[in-house]
Amino acid sequence: ASGYSLMRDPRYNKGLAFTEKERDAHYLRGLLPPVVLSQELQEKKMMNLIRQYEVPLHRYMAMIGLQETNERLFYKLLIDNVEELLPVVYTPTVGEACQKYGSIFRHSQGLYISLKEKGKILETLKNWPKRTVQVIVVTDGERILGLGDLGCQGMGIPVGKLALYTALGGVRPSLCLPITIDVGTNNEKLLNDEFYIGLRQKRATGKQEYDELLQEFMYAVKQNYGEKVLIQFEDFANHNAFELLARYSSSHLVFNDDIQGTAAVVLAGLLSALRLIGGTLADHTLLFLGAGEAGTGIADLIALEISEQNGKPIEENRKNIWLVDSKGLIVSSRKESLQDFKKPWAHEHEPITGLINAVKAIKPTILIGTSGVGKQFTKEVVEDMASFNKTPLIMALSNPTSQAECTAEEAYTWSEGRAIFASGSPFDPFEYEGKTFVPGQANNAYIFPGFGLGVIMAGSIRVHNGMLLAASKALASQVTEEHYEKGMIYPPLTNIRKISANIAAKVAAKAYELGLASHLPQPEDLVESAEKCMYSPVYRSYL
Ligand code: NAP
Ligand code: MN
Repeated sequence: ASGYSLMRDPRYNKGLAFTEKERDAHYLRGLLPPVVLSQELQEKKMMNLIRQYEVPLHRYMAMIGLQETNERLFYKLLIDNVEELLPVVYTPTVGEACQKYGSIFRHSQGLYISLKEKGKILETLKNWPKRTVQVIVVTDGERILGLGDLGCQGMGIPVGKLALYTALGGVRPSLCLPITIDVGTNNEKLLNDEFYIGLRQKRATGKQEYDELLQEFMYAVKQNYGEKVLIQFEDFANHNAFELLARYSSSHLVFNDDIQGTAAVVLAGLLSALRLIGGTLADHTLLFLGAGEAGTGIADLIALEISEQNGKPIEENRKNIWLVDSKGLIVSSRKESLQDFKKPWAHEHEPITGLINAVKAIKPTILIGTSGVGKQFTKEVVEDMASFNKTPLIMALSNPTSQAECTAEEAYTWSEGRAIFASGSPFDPFEYEGKTFVPGQANNAYIFPGFGLGVIMAGSIRVHNGMLLAASKALASQVTEEHYEKGMIYPPLTNIRKISANIAAKVAAKAYELGLASHLPQPEDLVESAEKCMYSPVYRSYL
C-alpha cells in the first residue's frame, strides 16, 4: 500500500523515474511499466508534449496537471524553461484560466475562505495539511490583472504567484499557501455561469461584513502561523488595497505586490534606463496613465528614492511626477474629491482631459501606463513623446497582453526606433530597420520571489520601504552593457534565480540593518546563504 500512496502523492511521485531499488523497497513492482526514465528525459517528454498544444489554455492545464501529479517535475520544467513557461503559468494565460476557472476546475488547489467560514477561519486554516507556512498569497478576486472582478475564480493568481515563489525565488512549495477570500462577486457573467465555483451573491462590503472577515482572517493567520509568515496581498481593488496595507503593516508582515512589488520593479527599470536616457531621476518628468495601486505605488517609491538621493523633502520631489486617472490629469482643483492615495499628486495646473492633451502640456520624458485599459498609447501619443525626447522611455505595464497600453512593435515603429520600451506582459523581440529590439518585461515576477526570500531568510517581522529600495537597486545592478545594447533595461529572466539570490541578500541585509531581522546571527555571505537555502526540484532518493 505504501508504494501506491507514494505514487499518488504529488510531493513524492516520480512517475517512471522510480529506480529499481525504490520499486523494491516501496512495493511499486508491477504498478509501473518496466522502463526507468531519468528526470531529464521526463522533462524532455513533457516539454515536447506541452509544445504540441497550440491553445495557451491547454498548456496551462497541462502544467497544472503536472503540478497536481508530480510537483518536482513541474518545478524542474518551470525553472529550466522560465522564459517559455512563465507566460503559461502566469500572465497572460493565467488571466484566461481565471476567467474559465470553473469550467477547467479539477483538483482543488489552495484554501478558500468565504463568508460561510466567518467565525471559523482559524479552524479552516487548521484544515490545511501543513503546520508551517512561510508565504501566503491572498486575493479577494476583485481586480484580477486588468480583467476586473473574477470573484472566487481569482484563485489562479495566488496559485500562480506561489509557483513563482518556488521556481524563481526558491521558497519550498510546502511552505507556500495560496488563499482566496470569497465575499461574492459583482461579475454578472460569473453569477450566471453554471460552472462558477464561488458564492453566488453580490460582494459583501463595509465594516460589518468585509472588514470583519478580513480582520478575523489576519488575526487567525498570525495566531496559527506566527509573526514571521509573509502575507502578500494580490489583486485586491484599490478601495481596499491601500487601507488593508496601512491597517496591517504595523501588526503583520504584509506586502502588497500590486502597490509595492510593482513599484520596486519599475524603479529598478528606471534606474537602469538612466544609462540609456541620461540624467538622474530628479532630472526627469514622469507622466502616468492610471493612478491606482500600481501608478501611485510606483510614483511614491520614485519620489522616495529621489529624496534619498538629493536630500530634499518628498513633497518637493513629487512635483515632476504627474498622474492621469479616468477623469483626466490630477490637479489641485480636484483635491477635495480625490481618494486619499491620489491627494499627494494633485499639483497646481489647469484641468486637462485626455492623455494626449496631458502629454502635450506636461511634456514628460517618461510615460508609464498603469490604467488596466489597452491601446491608450496611440500613435499620436507615442509620436508626440518622440517629438520632444531623443530617447523616450515608454512602459506599458497593464496586464494581460490585451490590456497593454501599446505593443512593442507600436512603440518602436511610431518612435522610429528611438523608444526604450518595457511592458508588463511579454512581447517578442522586434526588428525595425535592420535592428533587433528586445523589449523588457517590467513585471513584478522579478522582485517578489527574491524579496520574499530575503524577508524569510532574515526572519524579518515587518516590511519596510528601505527594503523595497534595496530590492530595486539589486535588480538594476544586474543589467549589463550587453543588455543595454539591445535596448533592454531588465536582465533576461533566464538568470532569475541568481537575480533573486542577489535581491534576497540585499533585502535581508536591510532587514538586519533596520533591526527587523530575527534570524541571528546574520550570515556572513548573504548571497551564498540565499543560494544555499533555495529549493531544488531534483528528485530525492527514497532509500
Ligand atoms: P487600479 O488600482 O484599479 O488603478 C487603475 C487606474 O487606472 C485608476 O486610477 C483608474 O482611474 C485609471 N483608469 C482606468 N481607466 C482609465 C482610462 N480610460 N483613462 C485613464 N485612466 C484610467 O489598478 P492597478 O492595480 O493600478 O492595476 C492597473 C493595471 O496595471 C492592471 O492592468 C494590472 O494588471 C497592471 N499591473 C501590472 C503590473 C506589472 O508588474 N507589470 C503590476 C501591477 C499591476 P480612476 O481612479 O479614476 O478609476
Ligand atoms: Mn497583481
